[in-house]
Amino acid sequence: MDFGLTAEQETLQKVARSFVAKHCPATKAKEWDEKNEFPSEVWDLMAELGWFGLPYPLELGGTDGTPIELTILAEELGRSSLDMAMSYIGTFIPGLTLSKWASSEQLSRLRDGLVEGKHRFAMAISEPDAGSDAWAIRTRARRDGDDYVVNGRKMWCTGAGLPGAKIATYVRTGEGATGREGLSLLVIDADTPGIEIHRIPTLARHILGTNEVIFDDVRVPAADLIGPEGEGWRVMMSNLEIERVLMSGAYVGAAQATLDDALKYSKERVQFGRPIGTFQSVAHDLADMQTEIDAARLLAYRAAWTLSQGRPVTTHGSMAKLKGSETYVAAARLGMQVLAGYGFATESVMSFRWREAIVAPISAGTSQIQRNMIARGLGLKTY
Ligand SMILES: Cc1cc2nc3c(=O)[nH]c(=O)nc-3n(C[C@H](O)[C@H](O)[C@H](O)COP(=O)(O)OP(=O)(O)OC[C@H]3O[C@@H](n4cnc5c(N)ncnc54)[C@H](O)[C@@H]3O)c2cc1C
Repeated sequence: MDFGLTAEQETLQKVARSFVAKHCPATKAKEWDEKNEFPSEVWDLMAELGWFGLPYPLELGGTDGTPIELTILAEELGRSSLDMAMSYIGTFIPGLTLSKWASSEQLSRLRDGLVEGKHRFAMAISEPDAGSDAWAIRTRARRDGDDYVVNGRKMWCTGAGLPGAKIATYVRTGEGATGREGLSLLVIDADTPGIEIHRIPTLARHILGTNEVIFDDVRVPAADLIGPEGEGWRVMMSNLEIERVLMSGAYVGAAQATLDDALKYSKERVQFGRPIGTFQSVAHDLADMQTEIDAARLLAYRAAWTLSQGRPVTTHGSMAKLKGSETYVAAARLGMQVLAGYGFATESVMSFRWREAIVAPISAGTSQIQRNMIARGLGLKTY
């Protein structure tokens, strides 16, 4: 058993940590969040470092990184914010699905967008009546000659409003099909005529933006159907595990940075003539939180390691997602208590952490859904 990183992985971690400190520290992420601003210069720097190629195989021009290296990057970017971590992993999660199922002709068209970061990919599954229950998808794509004609409404689509976005959109192609039947994946340019994108005002996650996407008779070339028609459920499920694992890495990074800030403050803030961190109740809370974060980190890397061995991580991925996201909320809650009035001031980074942490157990599958998955692993049937 080996809990250590390889020399190359340690180097990647160091590079990513100094990248975040220099180009996107939490203070900057907070500013961008407040201005609804996406820092495209940071995206370009990630592209220059070749990070967008890391998830893809050598045949596609990628560098064939394992889920462990991807989790390292997710964790380090999470130190900045979930939004900055999502600006990296959120594009290649749909991207990996596309690369896995696209034909060689489609790959030749999509390659630069995927591997070199020339396009941002968004993923549209959720709808007004299809949240946790993705089988309830209603957005329809009707075949008409060489095109599909898409009508419907997607919700919460992260990053769909950014310039040049391509939306991996799950639609219902099967006539009268319900549940997991008759779903298909189309990759659609966000600026295709007939698409309207409305940013949803939210508590946080303003860097990428969370959007409602309306499709009104949108013509999409049938050549942009990814994978077999009607097999969309299988396509969607093929990358769900890596999403949960990488999100767990991001939550751990965000939680650790939150605790680091609280710890620093506890050493500096003096009340009753001594640093507040020397009051046992504060010190024990901080010690407990570090223990929780380490537990979350171990779950995240166990899942990443298992995935890198080519083994399924359905239960372990859900455990990592559950623990990581809940730990980020707990760390932000503790951080607010330790910084007290100064945390409550909206100029504090802690107040930004608090706003964005609360969505961690909701997006990418709620905590209840993760518990359902874990319970299924225990042989319990859950709904
Ligand atoms: C910031 C943000 C970004 C997002 N980005 C995207 C994106 O890019 N693309 C995309 O497609 N979607 C995205 N989503 C949507 C996200 O995946 C959904 O919000 C999530 O799956 C939950 O769906 P819902 O909000 O409709 O809640 P619902 O499914 O309506 O759930 C409401 C409550 O009921 C509980 N519940 C529901 N079913 C069960 C069950 N079977 N057992 C126990 N409890 C249950 C839930 O856990 C929750 O507490 C995003 C959401 C947010 C908030």
